[in-house]
Amino acid sequence: MSRPPRHLADLELAERREAVTELGERAFRADQLSRHYFARYTDSPEDMTDLPAGVRAALTAQLLPRLLTSEQELTCDNNATRKMLWRLHDGALVESVLMKYTDRVTMCVSSQAGCGMGCPFCATGQAGLTRNLSTAEIVAQVVAGERALLLSSGGDDPPQTPPAHGGATRPPIPPRRVSNVVFMGMGEPLANYKNVIGAVRRLSDPVPAGLGISQRSLTVSTVGLVPAIQRLIEEKLTVRLAVSLHAPDDEARDELVPVNRRWKVAEVLDAAWEYAAATGRRVSIEYALIRDINDQPWRADLLGQLLRGHLAHVNLIPLNPTPGSKWTASRPGVQEEFVRRIADHGVPVTVRDTRGREIDGACGQLAATVTGRSVGPARRSGTPLLPLA
Ligand code: SAH
Ligand code: SF4
Repeated sequence: MSRPPRHLADLELAERREAVTELGERAFRADQLSRHYFARYTDSPEDMTDLPAGVRAALTAQLLPRLLTSEQELTCDNNATRKMLWRLHDGALVESVLMKYTDRVTMCVSSQAGCGMGCPFCATGQAGLTRNLSTAEIVAQVVAGERALLLSSGGDDPPQTPPAHGGATRPPIPPRRVSNVVFMGMGEPLANYKNVIGAVRRLSDPVPAGLGISQRSLTVSTVGLVPAIQRLIEEKLTVRLAVSLHAPDDEARDELVPVNRRWKVAEVLDAAWEYAAATGRRVSIEYALIRDINDQPWRADLLGQLLRGHLAHVNLIPLNPTPGSKWTASRPGVQEEFVRRIADHGVPVTVRDTRGREIDGACGQLAATVTGRSVGPARRSGTPLLPLA
């Protein structure tokens, strides 16, 4: 484990200008490099024809080192879901997922290699923390997604429902740019606070400072690190907060989310409501439904009571069992009743779509498969495995 090389995405625009000046070049070259990276999604000197050939190699070597090497790429859902496994400069592996819908493109990024929070149902949690990602390593995952979208031909659009009335209306064409970013890949974003905030700024700053994605379209998902949520409020950002609750009571949550032994359900929810009040944004309460563990009707009612009247929305996630896990997803009827009971309390609730399931879509599963750290079968049968991109 070692520090990743410095990259322009680690720096604010003014700092990039200073760095370029220190390298003996005029400051505006920083803007040119930034446009190549954040608007054309390239870090290849040969693409930078507006820079003198003599300075391209030096500037790109110093400010645009390649941070991610493609280790594996898997696709499913008629190419609408693409999972990318990256090797970092020190060999650490992280993954990101690009999901194309008819009206948006969502990129799920990793914020750490591994995770130290130890949630027993999560593949990433089993492996422990390797290291924090740098701001640029996080941003680079989104830039890679943008590049993939730019290069993809028209033939890989998401599966679309045929129009109801004889084909008069065409289904909308999915955007060709990443519209949403969720910090729901490997790692606990708020345990890598500084670099994640840097990434939020770089993703949302307008070109050439950053990628220009609206902060409202970014979601930071946390296991519930209360002081970090409070610190996030002070940043005065407008990102969406997702809180991985998984149980409404401390007894179950202590087991499912070990950090609950430090910050209890009531404290986590209080912090969530503070965030909602400060930002005006609805907090997303994530709840992985695990058969006979946290899916009892009384837990649905308790959750409904706790959330009722608050700016919250429940996102139920059918558990994606990790290889060798003793736990599995809830029975369909149980899941339906859980949804109904929450809704009966007047709390908005949705069940997350299970995009990418057949390509080890859940948190950390692809990396666990590749490194062989997981127990059980190396790869579930039927998993498409494509050669390196
Ligand atoms: N560490 C952060 C963000 C990454 S995990 C967090 O925990 O919120 C992203 C989401 O995937 C979390 O809600 C997490 O609880 C959920 N998750 C992890 N493993 C899962 C699994 N096997 N099945 C379903 N959801 C899972
Ligand atoms: Fe870490 Fe999130 Fe997985 Fe828990 S669920 S181990 S916090 S990545």
